[in-house]
Amino acid sequence: MIIVESIAKWMEIRKNIKHQSIGFIPTMGNLHLGHSSLIEKSIIDNDITIVSIYINPAQFDDQNDFINYPKTLNDDLEILRKLKIDYLFLPITKDIYPDEFSFRILNDSNYSRIMEGEARKGHFSGMLTIVMKLLNIVKADNAYFGEKDYQQLRLVELMTKAFFIDTIIVPCKTIRNEYGVAMSSRNNRLSGEELKKISIFPKLLGSNLPDDIIISELEKEFIVDYIKTIDNRRFGAIIVNNVRLIDNMEI
Ligand code: AMP
Repeated sequence: MIIVESIAKWMEIRKNIKHQSIGFIPTMGNLHLGHSSLIEKSIIDNDITIVSIYINPAQFDDQNDFINYPKTLNDDLEILRKLKIDYLFLPITKDIYPDEFSFRILNDSNYSRIMEGEARKGHFSGMLTIVMKLLNIVKADNAYFGEKDYQQLRLVELMTKAFFIDTIIVPCKTIRNEYGVAMSSRNNRLSGEELKKISIFPKLLGSNLPDDIIISELEKEFIVDYIKTIDNRRFGAIIVNNVRLIDNMEI
């Protein structure tokens, strides 16, 4: 695994990759089995796999959340070495935002204004901006995104279409723990007891109960941010002991 910290260095490497396909998995680190599944898919699909780890300040609506985002580079390196990826890209803020955050991707649509867009002001703009930058730098054939963040995945797909980006966006199924809870870096902040308790969340999302009944069931135990059904998929966000969790299920 070659670790690349400079954008210029990657551009040099990229120039010499001509006849091999490249798969790319952008992450914020603190890797778990959800990330590994995207990486494994890329390794199967492509000749070369590159993973990036970058905690993007522009997508955090809450500064505390950004500061406290778990940084576990040594553990991440071990996981990535075991998976045998080819490149790890670790860009730094001053290189990746030479514009000092002055240019942004904005999506003004019914789909970006609701749910995570409504709850986390500026989040999607920050997320789309970093994804656009990374896609332009890496120039991969395929980029892998989890259905765990379904609204993000759809917006990235729509953005690449809108800006004629060549990279194909590959959706990947949500990986869940033994209680059916979607793997997430945020789960580390919960106790084993709390993790068991939230198994009701994905169960209710995947049930055929109406949204309002699900809300009242969840409110018995948690703070509910939203429950919403769109096109045969139910989305939800709840807060458990100050930890905000999102999930979605096809119904
Ligand atoms: P993050 O590091 O949280 O930005 O996530 C990087 C990528 O991993 C995103 O495309 C996420 O949707 C995906 N991801 C995170 N958790 C899971 C999961 N449990 N199952 C599948 N993909 C996931």
